Amino acid sequence: MRAAVLTAPGKLEIRELPLPRPERDELLVKLKACGICTLEQRLYRGAMQMPLPLVPGHEAAGEVVEVGPAVVGSYVPGTRVALDLVTRCGECYYCRIGKSNLCSNRFKPGQRVLGGFAEYLAVRPSQAYPLPPGLGFDEAAFTEPLSCCVHSLKKLKLAMTEDLLVVGAGVMGLLHLLVARCMGLRTTVSDPDPSRLEAARRLGADFAVDPAGSDLGAFALDITEGLGYSACVVTSPAPEAFASAAAALAKCARVNIFTSYESAMALPLDANEIHRRELTVTGTEGRLEEDFFQALRLLAFEKVDVRPLISARTSFSTIAAGFEEALSGRSYRVLLEHEAP
Ligand SMILES: [Zn+2]
Ligand SMILES: [Zn+2]
Repeated sequence: MRAAVLTAPGKLEIRELPLPRPERDELLVKLKACGICTLEQRLYRGAMQMPLPLVPGHEAAGEVVEVGPAVVGSYVPGTRVALDLVTRCGECYYCRIGKSNLCSNRFKPGQRVLGGFAEYLAVRPSQAYPLPPGLGFDEAAFTEPLSCCVHSLKKLKLAMTEDLLVVGAGVMGLLHLLVARCMGLRTTVSDPDPSRLEAARRLGADFAVDPAGSDLGAFALDITEGLGYSACVVTSPAPEAFASAAAALAKCARVNIFTSYESAMALPLDANEIHRRELTVTGTEGRLEEDFFQALRLLAFEKVDVRPLISARTSFSTIAAGFEEALSGRSYRVLLEHEAP
């Protein structure tokens, strides 16, 4: 089978690899679509280290082609599935207490990790979520990033009709917006890029604000009768992005740090403010199985339409160009389509 193998930072090779052999209790899945996520971009840029060579790709969907004899679920050849490819061990402390997103054995050498940029993958049935009829593989490839936004917004313990600020209108900011709309929130998206603000407006943002060219704090007070935002999620790693939001928060506001930072980043918040105004600052990393299941339902129930976020489609023969496009900063999500010519 064909696979795009990352052999060194910036170096992707299309190689012929042996077809994976599923264990008796596993499924063999023929992949159809896989997003090029920030994780893959970091591996490609060398900003994140994992043992190489490696087949990246963790936002994948495909079709079951073989069902091991010991599989107990109702999978049959032809079952279409979204895949959870950030493997968790199920046995460590965090997995046992229901926080598998923080699994101690994630990405450990010897684990099967990622692999979405290959034609076939053997997976445990728990990693395969059946798709409803009518949901395309391209949309299903968004289940994973969408599930991270579901997890993030749950952390904010939102009540209906709260005023939410989403900082950053990249693909993850816009996915947060789409989930927030399902939750009955009034959502402001902030980003300095006018074309991204325009995308946020098209996708239903109640307000879209440039925090560099205007006073976000004053805007927040204006639309919230002097209160400020009661909840905020930071999806942009730009240091000034968080700082701009800090001035726009209500008392008792909750802020979730969704983005990761490539180097240490001090909180741009006075500890006294956190104390006096009872602010809560949290973080989220990845998602749980339940979030994945619910993200897939948001797609299945047509509550969320991710298709406007597909910026480009690429194939094995053009995947290097696809990576460059994903890294360009111009695009939302670039998808690898495994069967494209
Ligand atoms: Zn991802
Ligand atoms: Zn674990």
